[in-house]
Amino acid sequence: MNITPSSSDCLDVADLLVDYAEHSLPPEQTARMAAHVANCPRCQERVAQLQELGANLKQPSP
Ligand SMILES: [Zn+2]
Repeated sequence: MNITPSSSDCLDVADLLVDYAEHSLPPEQTARMAAHVANCPRCQERVAQLQELGANLKQPSP
């Protein structure tokens, strides 16, 4: 098994996911998030969604 369900890890990084998606984390935590997200398809999806959402919020359509 390559992918182990690491829900506790996901909970651990859940609070940082938004900041990570917005690239507003310090390098140390960014590295930690990147390491988790690289191994966690679910969080990858979350980050993608958050980035999409953030882009929409920052650039409201007319
Ligand atoms: Zn995860």
